[in-house]
Amino acid sequence: REYRTQVDYRPLCMNDAVAENRISVCVRKRPLSKKEVTRGEIEVVTIPNKDHIILHQPQVKVDLTKYLENQKFRFDYTFDENSTNELVYRFTAQPLVKTIFEQGTATCFAYGQTGSGKTHTMGGDFTGKKQNASMGIYALTARDVFRLVSSDYRRQHLTVHCSFFEIYGAKVYDLLANKAVLRVLEDGKSQVQVVGLKVMDVDSEQMVLELINQGAAVRTAGTTSANSNSSRSHAVFQIILRQGKKQWGKFSLIDLAGNERGQDTRDCDRETRLEGAEINKSLLALKECIRAMSNNNSHVPFRSSKLTLVLRDSFVGDKARTVMISMISPGLSSCEHSLNTLRYANRVKELGADGTDERFSPMEDAAFMLAPEEFDYDDQETL
Ligand code: ADP
Ligand code: MG
Repeated sequence: REYRTQVDYRPLCMNDAVAENRISVCVRKRPLSKKEVTRGEIEVVTIPNKDHIILHQPQVKVDLTKYLENQKFRFDYTFDENSTNELVYRFTAQPLVKTIFEQGTATCFAYGQTGSGKTHTMGGDFTGKKQNASMGIYALTARDVFRLVSSDYRRQHLTVHCSFFEIYGAKVYDLLANKAVLRVLEDGKSQVQVVGLKVMDVDSEQMVLELINQGAAVRTAGTTSANSNSSRSHAVFQIILRQGKKQWGKFSLIDLAGNERGQDTRDCDRETRLEGAEINKSLLALKECIRAMSNNNSHVPFRSSKLTLVLRDSFVGDKARTVMISMISPGLSSCEHSLNTLRYANRVKELGADGTDERFSPMEDAAFMLAPEEFDYDDQETL
């Protein structure tokens, strides 16, 4: 199979670190778009090898000397602009497929600013005339799940099921049931349930593709500009394995809201500010939950946002594995957002080794947060 990229991943086998680590963090740089090339956008991101990324940040000193400050970060894997979805999948979600066959919970997050490639990576390309969902991580994961169900694991009589929902503001909408609003409840044993969520029985990759297209269409329906709504919501696609009526394993694949939506909303209207506050709260909570999980912390603060509440299983227990793919737009005009994305990803991973993390204090993260009175606790009973 052809992976196109010049970066050499070949000596590594797929059952490596990503499957062993409780949490892995990877970065993907997308290519400049035709539009960006046409307007002369300059690239400020380099992937020098399979696990580093460099951001060339322009600086101007007081004496007006201009220079580039190179910010180098290290992650589990970094993917350059020539890497395909298939390659990214192979080193991120694919190693976790076996987790759900071993009765675990696998989770894959796509994180990054709007336009950085989250939906392209997870859902495949929906922008062209021909939808090509088959090339996204949702579909590639489903393909491998069906392969395994009918191979070594046949004796366990597992069945495959899918759900697809969206978290917008602090509300949950079912993308397979025309955006029905769903309640989230937690029982006495901390089991979290999305009440009434449609869980479809699926028996082929083709059926999963149809559900992905259906959900994606519902997700974007009723929005005016192409990116307005989906960039403000988290989309959660789940592949569930069952043995009889009992859940066996679960793979959650999440296309997160644009991380820039949590910032800079001071001048916006009230609704947009509240949305921004909720996104900000959920992304901070997500980071804290993943870190608690990777540090083997017994206290995981999953109740601090709707997103993390719904994904409780992803953070709790020995059999939970998570991979985050942080998406980077390569252009100069995205430089600040790219740096924010890399800092966030870096804090999730806590790479102390080469010291890149030391400059960033928790206070800096907190600075993005709006004042507490800005939060809308309209659905407190479920939290
Ligand atoms: P997001 O979901 O993060 O807002 P999208 O996935 O919608 O961003 O990507 C924005 C645009 O860039 C889309 O037109 C998409 O097809 C394109 N794109 C994103 N990543 C890539 C990539 N790796 N290769 C080619 N085109 C890409
Ligand atoms: Mg998107």
